[in-house]
Amino acid sequence: MGIYYFLCCKTCETAIDLGKKIAKKDGTLVMQGLFSEEGLKWLSGDLVWIAVQSFLQIHENHELIFVSDENLPEVHTYENTEADELLKGPNKGQH
Ligand SMILES: [Zn+2]
Repeated sequence: MGIYYFLCCKTCETAIDLGKKIAKKDGTLVMQGLFSEEGLKWLSGDLVWIAVQSFLQIHENHELIFVSDENLPEVHTYENTEADELLKGPNKGQH
């Protein structure tokens, strides 16, 4: 259990799951990453940025929020965009 964080598009009711906040040794909070259903593991580093920028481009000019499921419980009814799809990059003209 715990509180999970999502980058959501409220326009499309779509979200990506960025996992929990994890405290590093120095106290800095970092996100868990992005879960890959294909790899059955949390992605981190450059792969997350590639996926996030794909999500941002697909949802350009839409209402994007970063939110926890504690503050937006209905995020669980949103369509969950797969990390593996995002890693293929946005299609031209997909807005
Ligand atoms: Zn959208």
